[in-house]
Amino acid sequence: MAGGGISLRELDGRPVSDLAGVGDRKAEALSRVDVRSVLDLLTYYPRRYLDRTREATIGALAVGEEGMVLVRVERVSARRTRGGRSLVEVRVADDTGTLRLTFFNQPWRERQLSEGTEAVVFGRLDRFRGDVQMTNPVVDLVGDRTGRIVAVYPQSEAGGLQSWDMDTLIAEALRRVMMVRGFADPVPTAVRDRYRLVGRAAAYGGIHRPGSMQEVAEARRRLVFDELLRIQLELVQRKVDLERTARGIAHTVDGDLVSAFHERLGFELTVAQRRTISAISADLAEARPMHRLLQGDVGSGKTVVAVSALLAAVQGGHQGAFMAPTGVLAEQHHIGVAGLLAGLTVADPSTLLGSRPLRVDLLTGRTPAAERRRIAADLVAGGVDILIGTHALIQEGVEFGSLGVVVIDEQHKFGVEQRAALRAENSDGTVPDVLVMTATPIPRTAAMTVYGDLDVSVLDELPPGRTPITTEWVADDDDAVWAAVRAEVAEGRQAYVVCPLIDESEALEVRSAEEVYAELSQGGLADLRLGLLHGRVGHAEKEETMGLFRSGAIDVMVATTVIEVGVDVPNATIMVVLDAARFGIAQLHQLRGRVGRGEVASRCLLVGDAPTAEAEERLKALVRTTDGFELAEVDLDLRGEGTIMGERQKGRNDLRLASLRRDREWVEAAREVAIELVGDGDGLAGHADLADEVALFLGEAESAFLLKS
Ligand code: ADP
Ligand code: MG
Repeated sequence: MAGGGISLRELDGRPVSDLAGVGDRKAEALSRVDVRSVLDLLTYYPRRYLDRTREATIGALAVGEEGMVLVRVERVSARRTRGGRSLVEVRVADDTGTLRLTFFNQPWRERQLSEGTEAVVFGRLDRFRGDVQMTNPVVDLVGDRTGRIVAVYPQSEAGGLQSWDMDTLIAEALRRVMMVRGFADPVPTAVRDRYRLVGRAAAYGGIHRPGSMQEVAEARRRLVFDELLRIQLELVQRKVDLERTARGIAHTVDGDLVSAFHERLGFELTVAQRRTISAISADLAEARPMHRLLQGDVGSGKTVVAVSALLAAVQGGHQGAFMAPTGVLAEQHHIGVAGLLAGLTVADPSTLLGSRPLRVDLLTGRTPAAERRRIAADLVAGGVDILIGTHALIQEGVEFGSLGVVVIDEQHKFGVEQRAALRAENSDGTVPDVLVMTATPIPRTAAMTVYGDLDVSVLDELPPGRTPITTEWVADDDDAVWAAVRAEVAEGRQAYVVCPLIDESEALEVRSAEEVYAELSQGGLADLRLGLLHGRVGHAEKEETMGLFRSGAIDVMVATTVIEVGVDVPNATIMVVLDAARFGIAQLHQLRGRVGRGEVASRCLLVGDAPTAEAEERLKALVRTTDGFELAEVDLDLRGEGTIMGERQKGRNDLRLASLRRDREWVEAAREVAIELVGDGDGLAGHADLADEVALFLGEAESAFLLKS
């Protein structure tokens, strides 16, 4: 181990009960907050810090001002308000005066703030019936800790652990580590110097027992860097490893099938499409397998790019697979792709003419057994050129003659399947090239973190001739909404009405959609032809309704989010989203992408109040811009990274301090360092201690895959 210090792996092997002062009861309490090892304890980071140099006194605080005061509890009383809310009133004092704290709906404060307890309270001082008071202030019990900066830990009500318990235990853990061998530091000195990062001892010491806020900041920088570096090491290693060990197919990319396809399109490719197609061609021509992510906003024309990649495989005598997240989407892709490819032929020496029509088949859970058997036979023999379906294509061991390219659509709905695709091997040991596509743009640093094992292409340009969508946020019960819908329909256009999102239950959502449908068909839109689509509409009925909408026989489609992806009706020019504040930014953006698909200017009306400031920000962002990447940045700012990371990160979640939002520049730094450290031939093998840490934090199974070589 580097420097002979104690590794994090060793600390992980040490139960907290090894520490002085941790008996069975305390160990049990700690385990309830997932602290079992000394490492868990050291990575149980403070929630915030009290800077005691900034403490005020009750006497010095002015009414209307915010402040922090150290007080002693004198009296506690609890009762209920007339409205039935719990109300705890606490009289507190310091040497300069007394103050009342009022807590609504926090009945446990009565027990927490027993007489004689010392606490630091933050809040705004106001005056109520002649007394000065703070309403629902932030309270930290500090015990008898001294020091200028006091770390405050998340407290656990259930476990009965107080902030100072954690403080004492962590101090003991740090003391023991330093007394024995100190911390090992696997990050090379040159890297630490370059980014002016403090050592591990200073980092763990500074985050838990800082002498100043400056020390906290330095400690945090180091620990953030470590977290991000571990993730990047894993991702870069995975990428390097796959590139080195897997044998891909060197496709012939200069055949004429792809160009024939492009010539038959009724439009010119956009610059972004051409750029992306040529990056993909370069990947395909090489013998190492491609792993590329294609990000492109709704309507940016990803399908043409995907089909170009599939055809590159087909023209060299291989096959292509196109996977969609649901059977319905697979069916839609099948219709679309078969349409695009109608009339194209491929070489086939066994026929009289030396060629036969290019064949595109569909395989989903609904494919009848006989058809399934036929497809399976033709696939092995090479008679099927492109197979479209759900991820079952790969999972169920469907056998291809020679699978050359796999396209996975709407990657954000998958996860593990992509991994399976990467490992799908042909009988000669080659693996297919893989293109994953997503219409949910994510910010650059987030993409680096979540998709860091892939190369990334971006379709950052919409095909010409689209008229931008105007988005308005309007109040509920606004008759203008239905007037607007009626006006569009009077012009021969069509509309979507999206029903409120109900996360808790599909049944409730279906019911609400049915209610909206009933209400509109009897009231606001009684004179129009309405259709209804939701998750429980049977397949045949869904097809029929969609068909009627496509042909113009339905004016207004009342729907749930089932129309989020893949629905393409250019004549639909207005969308009304009811109770829009219930939806997330990405979802609203996807929904809105259903309009604005034709030549005519489209509108999107977001209806209803915003119950929170965050919801208001979301709706305003959608009104302000239709740029998916800009919206993705806003989303990251508002929601943090949890949702993005959740999709791919398995094992122990190692983003405890780091934020993809606040620490953008550290994501880039960590990636650079990871490429520098493992991007060459040996990979992590040359950095055993770092490799061990990656395995420790990101899960053994994951790293077994990583480290095999
Ligand atoms: P995405 O899957 O990225 O949302 P699609 O591939 O479904 O977008 O394309 C949206 C629409 O734009 C389709 O009707 C497609 O035929 C059309 N389209 C794609 N590329 C172009 C282009 N270069 N010029 C004009 N129209 C295009
Ligand atoms: Mg698409």
